[in-house]
Amino acid sequence: MSGHLHIIGGGIAGLASAAFAIRDARMAGGQITIYDANAVPGGSLDAGGDVTRGYVMRGERMLSPHFVCLYDLLSGIPSFDNPHISARDDIFAFTRACGWESKARLVRADGSKVDTGRLGLSFADRAALLRLMLRSEASIGAKTIRDVFPPHFFTTNFWLMWCTMFAFEPWHSALEMRRYLRRFLHLFPHLASMRTVHRTRYNQHHSIVVPLLRWLEAEGVRFERGCRVTDIEITGMRRATALHVGRDGMEERIALGEHACAIFCNGSMTAGSSLGACTHAAPALCGADDGSWALWKRIAAGRPEFGRPDVFCGDPRASRWVSFTATTRTPRFRQLLEAFTAAPLGREGLITFVDSNWLLTIKANPSPHFPGQPGDTVVWWGYGLNMERPGNFVAKTMPESSGSEMLRETFGHLRLAADTDQLMAESRAIPCLMPLITSQFMPRAPGDRPPVRPSHLENLAFVGQFVELPDDTVFTVEYSVRTAMEAVKALLKPDLAVPPIYKGWRNPAVWLRAAREAMR
Ligand SMILES: Cc1cc2nc3c(=O)[nH]c(=O)nc-3n(C[C@H](O)[C@H](O)[C@H](O)COP(=O)(O)OP(=O)(O)OC[C@H]3O[C@@H](n4cnc5c(N)ncnc54)[C@H](O)[C@@H]3O)c2cc1C
Repeated sequence: MSGHLHIIGGGIAGLASAAFAIRDARMAGGQITIYDANAVPGGSLDAGGDVTRGYVMRGERMLSPHFVCLYDLLSGIPSFDNPHISARDDIFAFTRACGWESKARLVRADGSKVDTGRLGLSFADRAALLRLMLRSEASIGAKTIRDVFPPHFFTTNFWLMWCTMFAFEPWHSALEMRRYLRRFLHLFPHLASMRTVHRTRYNQHHSIVVPLLRWLEAEGVRFERGCRVTDIEITGMRRATALHVGRDGMEERIALGEHACAIFCNGSMTAGSSLGACTHAAPALCGADDGSWALWKRIAAGRPEFGRPDVFCGDPRASRWVSFTATTRTPRFRQLLEAFTAAPLGREGLITFVDSNWLLTIKANPSPHFPGQPGDTVVWWGYGLNMERPGNFVAKTMPESSGSEMLRETFGHLRLAADTDQLMAESRAIPCLMPLITSQFMPRAPGDRPPVRPSHLENLAFVGQFVELPDDTVFTVEYSVRTAMEAVKALLKPDLAVPPIYKGWRNPAVWLRAAREAMR
């Protein structure tokens, strides 16, 4: 394969594009350059820190056995610890050994567990669910979830488990909700136990990104770190002919030769995010961007076929939330948590405090969640979907709260009053404000996202969360990897076989099981 592949964006979509170009289109690693604004590639899949300062990761990922493109990618990549096991097999082995079997999925203010055996749906709620699943996307358009469900639906156990698992808000896209309902219909019987969720051994940076980076670097892929691609010159709407790359206040024009291609990750859900500390809240960074939105807006201006970025990034108050990563250094926390949940550490999935003003959800990981993490520490993670109200134990909204205040709020919900002072002294929490975290769920209409390769373009493709892929669901690693595979197929390897999307909703047995569950 002659020519050079320029990949704008070093998140999982960009890394996967490089890996497929090497593995499937037989490009040499030296023919590929990845540009990213950050010093460390991985995009949203970041994680770092240490036990003294506190570990931090913006997000935690639940994976599905049906993430076929992700697993296809990782099947040829050695795992973080063991070169004889693929990163894919490591995820399967860890999930087998340490899968979730939640006992405390929803918890009330008095510490009692909600009976999640009942989803609590009324006849009207069930009818609305069915109607939404059977409607066409065109007929839903930019409607919100609130537009298509009765008010009672939002009080049900089903909604509480669904929205906290997938991060839906009532004002999000009904169209996206429809895709999720169809794509994850098979999960209905397991919403409470979460037993079908796949998980990585370590955080996703160490279990997915680092192995992939090592492999790409060994293949000779070039990484241009800490730079922004500010423009793509496109001639006659047919060819990308040059990139403009900015670094340290200097801008360089890189001409794309006759056989060169470019792949661009347009939009990022973690753009403009900021970290706080135990002592202070995460600051709101006005207008901060990693280049992904600015470049998308620039090339989409006057080109409607490149989509409408403002639909997704135009209202950060509707798309933001705060997460926090906590590091607790005393074994006491593990004992208290295990007593609260009645499950060994790490076997309990998400815990949502249903009476929490913030609608707080936490998740604790078996140790070590970071390579080298001391055995008696616990790294846990939390987020809230109702952030704009004062907490129950802290008189501040979530974005106003420091890491210590988030700990105090959580220990309050866990009813650990007697131990709070000791736990506070032994814990660190780092808040992270993400203004665009649910931007991919904002109400949208057909055409708001570009296809992987607009038909007239010879050598430019789009990847990531803001690209249209029929049937698949955004806010997943799988979506980014699938777009990468489609981009390599479109630009470099027309006969590449992309694994089909799992369509459980076409299986009558899946419908039957889901319907039985919805009746309870
Ligand atoms: C809190 C949270 C929870 C999540 N939970 C789950 C989950 O449970 N399950 C799941 O499957 N997924 C989950 N996800 C989603 C998943 O992590 C993302 O979908 C995925 O990582 C997105 O990868 P990406 O490569 O498409 O984009 P990104 O990770 O956003 O990477 C894009 C990269 O491109 C760079 N870039 C773009 N344009 C330019 C430019 N012009 N110049 C320089 N650099 C540029 C950006 O700097 C960025 O580094 C979660 C994400 C978060 C944040």
